[in-house]
Amino acid sequence: VWVILLVIIATTQIIVAQNSDNAKNKIELLLKKMTLEEKVGQLNLATYVNENNTTNSFNESIKNGEIGGILKSNGAKTNYELQKMAVEQSRLGIPILFQEDVIHGYRTIFPTPLGESASWNLENIEKSASIAAKEAAAGGIHLTYAPMVDITNDPRWGRIVEGAGEDPYYGSLVSAARVKGFQGKDLTSGESVMACVKHFAGYGAVLAGRDYNISDFSERTLREIYLPPFKAAIDAGVGSVMTAYSTFDGIPATANQKLLKTILREELGFKGMLITDWSTINNLVKIGVAADQKEAVLMAIDAGVDVDMTSGLYLKYLKVLVEEGKVNVSVIDQAVRRVLHAKQQLGLFDNPYKFFDVDREKETLLNPKHLEFARKSARESMVLLKNNNSILPLNSNVKKIAVIGPMATRKKDMFSWWGGDYSQGKPEDVVSLLEGLKKTASPNVTIEYAEGIKLDGFEPKGLELIPEAVALASQSDLVILALGEEYWMSGEAGSISNINLPGAQEELVKAISKTGKPIVTVLFNGRPFDLQLVEKHSEAILEAWFPGTMAGLAVSDVLWGAYNPSGKLTISFPRNTGQIPIFYNYKRTSHDINEGVKPSRWTNMYLDIPTTPLYPFGYGLSYTKFEYSNMELSTNAINKEDSIQITVEVSNTGKVFGEEVVQLYVGDDVSSISRPLKELKGFKKIGLNPGEKQKISFTLNPTDFSFYNKDMQWVLESGSFTIMIGASSQDIKFSKKLAVH
Ligand code: BGC
Repeated sequence: VWVILLVIIATTQIIVAQNSDNAKNKIELLLKKMTLEEKVGQLNLATYVNENNTTNSFNESIKNGEIGGILKSNGAKTNYELQKMAVEQSRLGIPILFQEDVIHGYRTIFPTPLGESASWNLENIEKSASIAAKEAAAGGIHLTYAPMVDITNDPRWGRIVEGAGEDPYYGSLVSAARVKGFQGKDLTSGESVMACVKHFAGYGAVLAGRDYNISDFSERTLREIYLPPFKAAIDAGVGSVMTAYSTFDGIPATANQKLLKTILREELGFKGMLITDWSTINNLVKIGVAADQKEAVLMAIDAGVDVDMTSGLYLKYLKVLVEEGKVNVSVIDQAVRRVLHAKQQLGLFDNPYKFFDVDREKETLLNPKHLEFARKSARESMVLLKNNNSILPLNSNVKKIAVIGPMATRKKDMFSWWGGDYSQGKPEDVVSLLEGLKKTASPNVTIEYAEGIKLDGFEPKGLELIPEAVALASQSDLVILALGEEYWMSGEAGSISNINLPGAQEELVKAISKTGKPIVTVLFNGRPFDLQLVEKHSEAILEAWFPGTMAGLAVSDVLWGAYNPSGKLTISFPRNTGQIPIFYNYKRTSHDINEGVKPSRWTNMYLDIPTTPLYPFGYGLSYTKFEYSNMELSTNAINKEDSIQITVEVSNTGKVFGEEVVQLYVGDDVSSISRPLKELKGFKKIGLNPGEKQKISFTLNPTDFSFYNKDMQWVLESGSFTIMIGASSQDIKFSKKLAVH
């Protein structure tokens, strides 16, 4: 039996090796046939020009082999036609790679990535990416510009909505889950898309949260904070990487040899296709590091950039640069190999039309199973921020509900920037909050609505509507106040200077609070807001983010108690704008926030507000109560190469089933480099019935105690560490010391 098994294994290995040799040979053969113009064409990623535009010249470019990839096109039918043109009418018939921003859903829209990350449910995160991929593939897309894994702690920056929050450890797990979800097990299945992890690297550091601004951070920060989620994506097999608009150490990412060659290719071992961000080659001229567009092209190709997104400059200048002897054709060949390899990985040479099937598109998009999952993932992403006197879930004494606020009837605003204008998501697919509540309320509950104010941009508008809302509130048992931001207010180029709720929403809160009726605030937004006023006047606050297509039903599930909220924040909520940046894994200072110590001039470093955030990383309430007990370490001392087990018991002491995210943090007590007080190193999301208790165990490995030393080497220094178990980064239940020898 063993002999047979060995023979089978050996034969399989030979076949796999042969297949990959064949694949390589095919690419090499093709490369030999290509003219320099055709090679450069493969590196050109063009935006789709619609029928009313210069279609003829666009079509001619396809036929001339000048377009290797198309971005933002128009569904299966259009893509089929364009593909046919490339395959049948260009000299070599190389298929086009269709690409799109499928960020949190294609037609079925899931909660926005920041919201989804608050579920701490990696399986769900992977699944929503896989559904998005399935729908996108049916719509004729081969590659998505996602996941966006930029770590940030600046809520002024609109793109905070697109990431997984402030923590590099958790961000890495989400990054890998989303890559796996998009790419599936088989990129040729026609049900998955290639992922493009972005933006490499450090875009989340834009100064003052102003999009496209310069960033200025150290190599240490790059390695500790920004790189880990990229490494995770690469380890998970991501097919492509996108550069960033930002700069690192004065050099724009798209021309940064240290970032792209030394770190991305050599250290992280990335072998796939490297794409610029939108026209970032041209930006090299604008930023003033290239004298002209030709020099910009030279800088990008020298830095190892394979594909030029939309500037058209590779097409214009690469050939000339080769002819002038400034670029070696072997460099171009290498970039073309990567593009062709991506096409081959997707199976496009065998079946260029695999993804374009109008019937499949129809049955896949908005499939009821996808919608059901969108509802589940939306409610799991929601975070209960406050719940005085267990006012939620709503009980049967609440008979008359006033739903007030501009967000209650909004549809497109349940998406986000990407879901709103850049996906196939349609507002008419959405269940609004008001619709959801009415659909699910028991028959003896009456629900009435008043808009309260007009939310239309940042200016306060519609104050004349307040009296009507106040009158409605006064006649009701309870108010559900639906507040937030419009979908376009966060996202790309969605920076704000002040994180107060836009428009006249705070005026509305104050007016309604005067009625003395209990207020349950539901927030729809893509970023942390200054919630001090909302917190003061609300009995309960539910952070619902931008929940996607099933918004109203998912929120209703939580408000009525059909679902017990289990989300926890992956981003700290500052008290106000001036506190930015605030994040849980700050490095220790001489005057740290000492929890439990009475605030004084010397223990609280703002005179006007507490130093702590309003809601910390890892925070979120439940309808039940969890008690933590018996934290134990398998040993109090380990050698540098050893692992250690940590156990803790958690019980549900409340009355309903609930899920808890148990968090494990580690702090290095003394080290040669200043280190954070605590860093997340593990978590478990568990579900417990009332009265049930579970013992949870974590393993920490040597790498969990390691860091970059002054020479930027990854080391483990012996000494004392603090191991903490918490229900949030601030609510630490137990901490124990561990010696590492
Ligand atoms: C964004 C990218 C996006 C690209 C294509 C750029 O402006 O920064 O994240 O993928 O446009 O839409």
